[in-house]
Amino acid sequence: MTPDAATMIAYSAGLFALIFVFFLLSSRGRADRVWFALPFACGAATALLMVYPALLPGLWSGRLAVVCSLLGYGGAWQVVRVVNGRKPRVLAFVLPCVVWLGLSSAFVHDLHGALAVASAVVRTGLIAAFNGLAAWELRREPLPSARLLYRVFAAFAVFHLARALGVVWLPAPLGVASPAIWAVVVFNLSVVTQALLASAFIIALMRESVAAENHRLAFQDVMTGIGNRRAFQVKILEYADRRQPQGLALIVFDIDHFKSINDRFGHAFGDQVIVRAAEAARKVLRRPDQVFRIGGEEFACLLEDVTEQEAFAIGERLRRTFEEDAQLVDTNAVAATISIGVASGSSLAEDVTTLLDRADAALYGAKGAGRNKVVAAASNCPA
Ligand code: GH3
Ligand code: MG
Ligand code: MG
Repeated sequence: MTPDAATMIAYSAGLFALIFVFFLLSSRGRADRVWFALPFACGAATALLMVYPALLPGLWSGRLAVVCSLLGYGGAWQVVRVVNGRKPRVLAFVLPCVVWLGLSSAFVHDLHGALAVASAVVRTGLIAAFNGLAAWELRREPLPSARLLYRVFAAFAVFHLARALGVVWLPAPLGVASPAIWAVVVFNLSVVTQALLASAFIIALMRESVAAENHRLAFQDVMTGIGNRRAFQVKILEYADRRQPQGLALIVFDIDHFKSINDRFGHAFGDQVIVRAAEAARKVLRRPDQVFRIGGEEFACLLEDVTEQEAFAIGERLRRTFEEDAQLVDTNAVAATISIGVASGSSLAEDVTTLLDRADAALYGAKGAGRNKVVAAASNCPA
């Protein structure tokens, strides 16, 4: 049995029409979701015009099929933008389609010759460009489904670029040489595969984005943007499982006489001083180190691969940085300071909770010693 080109394309038209209706119904009138439906409407229209070329006179069915497919790929690029929270670029994808339609109507009057080849190179190049632009939007997105989506668009950008370069030799509908059934199979398969993979990963991406946002809300301190107490506890549990306090250091710090800052300048101003403290920690800490707000004006930093001396030096830098940065806040001479306790993991026999207790005790010592001080915890080495 030989596959029949029209039937294959008609199946694709039906599939795209169904997905279009599904996305349209599930959009519930939300404009950003309507974008998801657009490429499938274009795909269905393209396939319909390919199956029934006699629908319109002359080259018009083929011409409009091309415009619909260009709008479909350009629309897919907009879906990627929308799903990543960016505004769609309507003009940037509609204008090239209109220009192609204008040039094709003015100059291409039959399906042979240099103009037909030029037209095929331009339209295939445009499809490659739209795929490339969609991949470009995803290049820095970290979620796993975004990485997969990136690969899908990048792979199809390469596929269509290869088509654009080989248009003269490839049989229609891949190129402009005499049609071949294998070319119809490859073309149809490529369109359907991309549509199904892209929609599956886009749905996964929407779900992953919601999950990532929920995770952020649960583990990030809203005021300072750093990890909150819950995030710190999770981290501590991770370390407790691994039992590797050697090379690990904890720095805990607390703003001195913070109650009086609140009393003198007000609670909202006090918040700004708390933000300064978080910023000072971010400035001073090395890239892999982490800082968490574990209480009202109390913070904890986790440092890996540091010696006791290095951790103490970082604590001292932090104390001085905050002292300078909190001298003047919002034209008020606050002269806020912090007290710091530093504990370094000295033995594998110790666990991270004892390390935290030692850092807390050191902080208490710094407060007792007059504040604005860094105190190293007493060593816990069993030797
Ligand atoms: P010490 O030097 O001993 O640390 O003295 P302190 O006044 O800083 O004492 P303490 O650490 O007990 O004070 C914490 C104060 O921080 C009490 C509370 O009203 C205030 N506070 C807690 N959370 C917030 C917050 O989110 N914003 C502001 N502005 N104040 C807060
Ligand atoms: Mg305090
Ligand atoms: Mg406190």
